Amino acid sequence: MIQEERYDFVIVGGGPNGTALAAYLAKSGASVCVLEERPEAGGACENTEPIPGVRITPHAMYMYSGPSPGFEQLELHKYGFRMDWSPQSENLADQQARGVATTEGMSPITDKDAMGFAKLAGMLGNPPFIKDLLRATFWCPPHPPEVEVTAENIPYMQVYKQHQPDVWTEELLDMTMFDLMDEHLETEPFKVMHAMVAWYSGAAGHWEGVAIPAFACDITLTMYSGISVPRGGMHGYFHSIIRCALAHGAVVRTCCPVDEIIVENGRAAGVRLRETATRDEKRIWANKAVVSAVDVKQTFLKLVGPRHLGSSFRKKVDEISVKGGSIWVSHLLTREPLIPRPKFKAPGCENPGEYGGPYPCDSREIYFEHVADVDGRRGDPTVPPERLMWIATQSTRFRETDPQCTIPGVYLESPYYVLVPPPEYQPDGPDALDKKKEEINAYMRKAFSQVIENVDDDNLIMHLANTPYESEFRNTGLIGGTWCGTRHCDDQWAENRPLSELARYRTPVEGLYLCNQTACHPGGLCHMAIPYNLMHILIEDGLVEPGKWWYPSPWYIPQDGKISAIPR
Ligand SMILES: Cc1cc2nc3c(=O)[nH]c(=O)nc-3n(C[C@H](O)[C@H](O)[C@H](O)COP(=O)(O)OP(=O)(O)OC[C@H]3O[C@@H](n4cnc5c(N)ncnc54)[C@H](O)[C@@H]3O)c2cc1C
Repeated sequence: MIQEERYDFVIVGGGPNGTALAAYLAKSGASVCVLEERPEAGGACENTEPIPGVRITPHAMYMYSGPSPGFEQLELHKYGFRMDWSPQSENLADQQARGVATTEGMSPITDKDAMGFAKLAGMLGNPPFIKDLLRATFWCPPHPPEVEVTAENIPYMQVYKQHQPDVWTEELLDMTMFDLMDEHLETEPFKVMHAMVAWYSGAAGHWEGVAIPAFACDITLTMYSGISVPRGGMHGYFHSIIRCALAHGAVVRTCCPVDEIIVENGRAAGVRLRETATRDEKRIWANKAVVSAVDVKQTFLKLVGPRHLGSSFRKKVDEISVKGGSIWVSHLLTREPLIPRPKFKAPGCENPGEYGGPYPCDSREIYFEHVADVDGRRGDPTVPPERLMWIATQSTRFRETDPQCTIPGVYLESPYYVLVPPPEYQPDGPDALDKKKEEINAYMRKAFSQVIENVDDDNLIMHLANTPYESEFRNTGLIGGTWCGTRHCDDQWAENRPLSELARYRTPVEGLYLCNQTACHPGGLCHMAIPYNLMHILIEDGLVEPGKWWYPSPWYIPQDGKISAIPR
């Protein structure tokens, strides 16, 4: 006889967000089941080996979650989490000496640049306050709807007011990251480089009203994690999260795609699996809540039937912009190590494989040309390869004892990232760019060859690439083929993410909550922020009572009439 299955919480999607939430809930004593469509959990937090001895990360590569309370609260060190600090992050003076790459060669980073950057990042505070700043930006749920959001209660604004009052100004809330940098830094290439890192990491350098979120995206990577990766790559980090969830009793079922979120009497009651799922019983019931950890469009346009949602709400979901930056990811397998051209051999950048971009950082005109191409047009990329902006990971980022490629006499430089127009907005269909993959790969190599002297046919063994649309297929939770799924601009940030009525992770369907990068503040990246923030809301709704290990964000404001997530 088929057994009925029932849990306190049923989570749809076993990516980093759904699984970290399962760990939080299971540690709080709840029964939890995670349902994952693919044969392996992890979502876009995966490592792969397309050829034996060639290890690539098609998506999440770098550690952005360093300041996360999740490390302490879930005790991930007990479940195998270890960092592999980048050898290049060890000496900041070397980094400054290396300079910034422009079409003319390496441009120096001045003391004013370095000190201004360190000041904004909270490194000059006594004590330094970078962790408080980052936690205030990402690890705090948006404020309740009855609270007017002002300069007096936006979390990161309070951190500056407290620790670095000369940075605090009401105008900060209207600024772009470029405006902020113009006030505190000196050279244009240094500013362009950081705006570009921000664009590739979430909130972009040119978006108004998100100067600090954009800057925070940048420094989480460049300052806090020193552009490092966890040992075993991002999937190694994910393993520590899933091990924690399993150790506390969560059930994770793979090959179990969900086709429907069952709504009974206006309340999410459980889910129905696809016919092909590896379970005999296709319905799984939730006593307390169903959590959708898959993308916001799939959740409301497919999994929840139209009769349970208003048509204007569905239309708003349909219109959420996916222009978050669709990434073409290249992996270059070569006979000889890649060597920078002489003009890029700055101090500390003399060895093969030392140069990783961003390039070209001459001016914001180049930056805006690329932005306009990606966000303002539908179709193929049109920026001339000489001016195309890209970021790469140097092979020297990995220790000699842990190279990405272990085939003797073969070298791997991976990944190289380039933003291209989103597949969803291609006039010839979302697979339009995939059909010209070799042509686009050649265009990318031409761009890389502005800096690298031997990306030529004689040296190249293979150019592997995942297009944005391929990324969507590989990780079925991705939309827009992007790093972040949807935009992180002012109108999709914090209390507006992705729509104001969804900002606190609740939905129009009672008992249905959201926990995916596309649907929740603070959006993309594997920083365990969404599950942590959502915990505040589940506590408010009386669905979970974590133990003494729990602490809320110091900037959290409880909602009127709810249970406070601040322990008594
Ligand atoms: C090219 C690229 C580079 C990136 N680089 C970084 C980086 O360096 N550092 C970083 O931290 N982040 C990076 N990211 C972002 C990061 O990978 C994502 O933000 C993160 O994976 C989002 O996690 P998630 O759990 O919200 O969604 P996902 O990872 O998309 O997980 C969703 C899961 O739900 C499953 N699913 C979907 N539909 C169903 C269904 N109907 N039923 C059951 N299961 C379903 C999917 O198979 C998937 O496993 C990158 C992303 C991309 C695309």
